[in-house]
Amino acid sequence: MFINRSAQAVAALPLLTSLSTFGAAPTPAGSAPLSVAVLTGGHLFDVPNFHKLFRGFSDLEVYIQTVEDFVATPEAVRDEYDVVVFYHMLTEGPAEGRFKTALEHLGTTRQGLVLLHHAILAYPAWPFWSELVGIPNRKFWFYHDQQVKVQVVDPQHPITRGLQAWEMVDETYTMSDAGEGNEILLRLDQPKSMKTIGWTRRFKNARVFCLQSGHDNQTWMNPNFREVLHRGILWTAHRL
Ligand SMILES: [Zn+2]
Repeated sequence: MFINRSAQAVAALPLLTSLSTFGAAPTPAGSAPLSVAVLTGGHLFDVPNFHKLFRGFSDLEVYIQTVEDFVATPEAVRDEYDVVVFYHMLTEGPAEGRFKTALEHLGTTRQGLVLLHHAILAYPAWPFWSELVGIPNRKFWFYHDQQVKVQVVDPQHPITRGLQAWEMVDETYTMSDAGEGNEILLRLDQPKSMKTIGWTRRFKNARVFCLQSGHDNQTWMNPNFREVLHRGILWTAHRL
């Protein structure tokens, strides 16, 4: 396993080198790699390529786990992660109990929170999650395999600085846009999509980055998508 991980890191070097022209700040000298929990569950995904996506971020220590495993972990251990990336799509509840209590702990610290793709659709009837996402009404529909042209709304923000519009294939959602209280970074202007697809917000003490993109490997392999996701993780951890 560790041999494979090293091989992945080496393989990713040319890509990361080429991305350095976008101006992503390197990890400050002497600072430890960020510890990142990536939470899955409730929705199928391409497991091997999803793991490869995160192994490509050589400055992150990534722990992919189910959201059930995460909430079952003692709070002190959960708090050790610098960033939690949600990639789950549980739609029921959560019911009262340990699961809900653990999620309600989010935002009480400066731990960074990233909501990736279908995690913005999780718990549609739970106001807490709607507040975390920044969209009160999350009724939605979806379209697979769309050719999208992503527009950079804010080229000054650390997550999108220096990036220009790019095209890729992704799943789109039709849903209410992220409005007041959100800083919009990325948008799509096409009929089968919400307009806002990348935004930041503050949730209590935490920086939050929401990225609607990211259905499967067609998107994960796009250098701009990877750059935005990587920088989003760094930004929520106050590293950018
Ligand atoms: Zn999807």
